[in-house]
Amino acid sequence: MFETLKPQPADKILALMQMFREDPRDNKIDLGVGVYKNAEGLTPVMRAIKAAEHKLWEEQTSKSYVGLAGDPAYGDAMIKLILGDAVARDNIAAAATPGGTGAVRQAFEMIKMANPSAKVHVSDPTWPNHVSILQYVGIETVTYRYFDRETRGVNFDGMIEDLKLAAKGDVVLLHGCCHNPTGANLNETQWQDVIALMNERGLIPMIDIAYQGFGDGLEEDALGVRLVAAGCPEVLIAASCSKNFGIYRERTGLLMAVAQDKGLQVVNQGTLAFLNRQNYSFPPDHGARLVTMILNDDALRADWMAELEEVRLGMLGLRTDLANELQRLSGSDRFGFLAQHRGMFSLLGTSPELVEKMRLDNGIYMVSDSRMNIAGLNTATIPVLAKAIIDAGV
Ligand code: PMP
Repeated sequence: MFETLKPQPADKILALMQMFREDPRDNKIDLGVGVYKNAEGLTPVMRAIKAAEHKLWEEQTSKSYVGLAGDPAYGDAMIKLILGDAVARDNIAAAATPGGTGAVRQAFEMIKMANPSAKVHVSDPTWPNHVSILQYVGIETVTYRYFDRETRGVNFDGMIEDLKLAAKGDVVLLHGCCHNPTGANLNETQWQDVIALMNERGLIPMIDIAYQGFGDGLEEDALGVRLVAAGCPEVLIAASCSKNFGIYRERTGLLMAVAQDKGLQVVNQGTLAFLNRQNYSFPPDHGARLVTMILNDDALRADWMAELEEVRLGMLGLRTDLANELQRLSGSDRFGFLAQHRGMFSLLGTSPELVEKMRLDNGIYMVSDSRMNIAGLNTATIPVLAKAIIDAGV
């Protein structure tokens, strides 16, 4: 049987990490993998997570199963964090999933169950896993224009023109904030315009929110998802706690199905539980429990928010410093987009050849599409990167 299997293409980012490890140069810079790193290049366990783990160790008396949708208290706390008061709780079905990827996967399966002929429209570009999971699940994928390679902002006119071509019942996948890989995001008016278009044409929004708190702040980053949840009849929301709680390997995510028709909530909840049961039965609990403890405890929550804010402001500072250094070296404002982008990533918008040149000449590792992890920088490496960008002729 196994002889029929074909080799799978190597993961580009993991291959890049391997090359980085093998590079003997002292001054190499890793802007590849999508994990937050502090100025020392470390991905620390957040203080509130450590404290919650300590408390959990002392208090937890059983590791028996919880529920197919996870602990309801986790769903409640996360719904509050993401949606605030935008939608009444009884309009929402929610289930814990293994990470944001698990939520994305289950959302696609729910779409396939509900409407096998629905296409999913994704931004060009989007997180590559969106496309590969859609393909694996057997859903036709269409791209809509999103990134403007000239301005490095959103090509909003192109986006709207393309979404006008979507058929009634199709799903439109949007990034809630901190678009990966581009760093370019919709503003409030643009969110409103997208909502109006979706309602006019009977399109269903799906929002992937994996970086709440990494852009403009916890509340600010939830603006789009809240507008959509309140403004459209049906919405799927896939959320990840990997980045904003720093619990990557604990695999903590949530899938929500929001329906303005309250009558759909019971079937939606049952469907989410069913999908969990078919794919892995009970979802992981450890990370979800820590998140719940933090969100429901005033002191832990305040400390988590303070640390998340430090992380966010640190990345914003790196963005501004890099944009300023590039302005100084180039004598132009053409790199100002780096300070406008939000989240952990920016798409430099250059060719794979120049990305490769910067790797060979300067030991700078970024994904071949020119996505840079801003958190991979520090005050010492910013001038090195800026010079390499200019020397390469970007
Ligand atoms: N969606 C997007 C856009 C992401 O960037 C990521 C993380 N790379 C995820 C979902 C899922 O992350 P995880 O499964 O690690 O929670």
